[in-house]
Amino acid sequence: MNKKILITGGSRGIGAALVRKFISEGDRVAFIYRNRHEDAEKLSKDTGALAFCADLSAASECIKAVNTVSEHLGGIDVLINNAGIAQFSLFTDISDEDWNSMIAINLSAAFFCSRECAKQMISKKQGRIINISSMWGITGASCEVHYSASKAGLIGMTKALAKELGPSNITVNCICPGVIETEMNAHLSANDLSALAEETPLCRLGKPEEVADLAFYLASDSASFITGQIISADGGFAV
Ligand code: NDP
Repeated sequence: MNKKILITGGSRGIGAALVRKFISEGDRVAFIYRNRHEDAEKLSKDTGALAFCADLSAASECIKAVNTVSEHLGGIDVLINNAGIAQFSLFTDISDEDWNSMIAINLSAAFFCSRECAKQMISKKQGRIINISSMWGITGASCEVHYSASKAGLIGMTKALAKELGPSNITVNCICPGVIETEMNAHLSANDLSALAEETPLCRLGKPEEVADLAFYLASDSASFITGQIISADGGFAV
């Protein structure tokens, strides 16, 4: 059966691969993005997915975005909390503003969007929530304390929410990607990228489509007895 999917941060990178995957499988998809109107419009035109612009670092925008999408799709069966930012900074150089914006988009947005979606999922006794965390949320990354903390928060939220929403037949799972070829890593030099590939047991970086395939599985009927799980798509990096 076709599902109604909401993907946050769908304009590019992993989010765009998620949009393409679910659309290619016949699902109805809406995605949220923040700034990149041209990318969002092109993806929407290419795929037929609905694109909505919102700054999910504000609670009110999360709530409004979920309700707007829900009206357009006629409900939401699957929420994928994917929108995120990264920043490389010495711990002592992380400003209050850096910390707050990292937590707001990477963690609080997932809380607000999940809470809004959960209301309708609970009354339907059906739903899937998939959080996109990071291997750094498991292992911690030097010079990415705020990023690592936000992603570790998503892991805790996934486990707690899976327990609370399980009796309502809602599964909640978390994907921890390794180093994936997207703009998030565009600031890294070719040398840094090849060093990261060498550190990865599979000897390469991951592709956004490889994360999207895992999310598609977790949203599918085949994954109906899987909840509260933290699943890595990192080529073995964090093992
Ligand atoms: P990108 O930087 O390529 O894309 C980020 C997406 O999030 C864009 O669609 C962007 O919108 C959206 N976004 C950012 N801030 C906001 C906001 N305030 N409100 C709404 N949307 C926002 O990231 P990736 O595809 O690489 O990453 C996707 C997720 O995967 C993130 O959560 C990231 O932390 C995680 N991840 C990525 C890894 C990697 O190596 N790439 C590794 C591990 C985890 P717009 O285009 O309009 O700016």
